[in-house]
Amino acid sequence: MPKLYQLSKNVYTLLPRGSGFATANVNIIKAKKPALIDCGSSYNPGVNYLIKILKSLKIETIKKIIITHTHMDHCQNAGKLAERFGAEVIAHKNANNTLKRREYNTLDTFEFWELIEETYPRLFHGRLSWLYRRLIIMGYNFIMYGGTKPINGLIAVDEGDIIELGDYELEVLFTPGHSNDSISILDRQSKLLFTGDMIPWTPYIHTTIEDFRQSVSKILAYAEKYHIKFMVRGHLKPQPASVEKANYRMFLDDMDQAEKRILNLLKRRGVLTAKEMMPYIFRRSHFAHQLIYRIFMRTQLFWIKKYLQNLEHKKLIRSLKEGSKTKYVLI
Ligand SMILES: [Zn+2]
Repeated sequence: MPKLYQLSKNVYTLLPRGSGFATANVNIIKAKKPALIDCGSSYNPGVNYLIKILKSLKIETIKKIIITHTHMDHCQNAGKLAERFGAEVIAHKNANNTLKRREYNTLDTFEFWELIEETYPRLFHGRLSWLYRRLIIMGYNFIMYGGTKPINGLIAVDEGDIIELGDYELEVLFTPGHSNDSISILDRQSKLLFTGDMIPWTPYIHTTIEDFRQSVSKILAYAEKYHIKFMVRGHLKPQPASVEKANYRMFLDDMDQAEKRILNLLKRRGVLTAKEMMPYIFRRSHFAHQLIYRIFMRTQLFWIKKYLQNLEHKKLIRSLKEGSKTKYVLI
């Protein structure tokens, strides 16, 4: 049985088949001009399976494919689907460069290098780092994604733009943080908000703490203002807005707590490296605590460095170079 949720008369969310690893939800808008919000990968759901689902909903074609951000699990299938249906592909204007790149089927679109370099510095700051990069990209794509078709005629959108679907319309909110091209999609008619990989799913932050904080606050404000019923994540089941809003508030608070803890720690202990701060910064509910990411990707250190960057930017702390180590101190 397909895991298909009907959220309103016009809107469905299709969860990936199987474990759903490395592929995201596909949202289907049944309108005069039918549309998808995110489209998964060419293995999962794949083109043929998706067509079967669309047929079961009496949808014959797709006119617009909207991408919440250019991570492969959300957009890898876009080129193939666009060609099949003659559909437009719509993404934030910052996505342009990524999607136009000939080889957009690479891990480069994940912006994971920042994280991977941080996690495995010995591998990625050495002479052979280009070789490791290529090997990881090729292997990962081969296993997870299969062939990718380039996207022709990408349509760039930005904050406040309306996407017309004939008898239906969607509004674009720019919500950077998880990536620099993340958008959320507001559906006022059905009172839905599609949030891509904004929290609580993501353990990663690819831009800055301030972006993240502002985007989370913005999503909360819109959810209130438009009496949103369901908030639809890029992964896992859509959540009732009451549940998701509580999650968002908790994470906003977690972020504030983390910064306060860093400042307190520096007040008590003087000068410290990011690594020395690790055991003291996070509450149990913080995304950096997700076990698998914590072990394999060392997300705790990654997040602390983001907080430190933010505190430095706010001129509350400053960094000192000591040999190969960076230490931090209160101003
Ligand atoms: Zn993502």
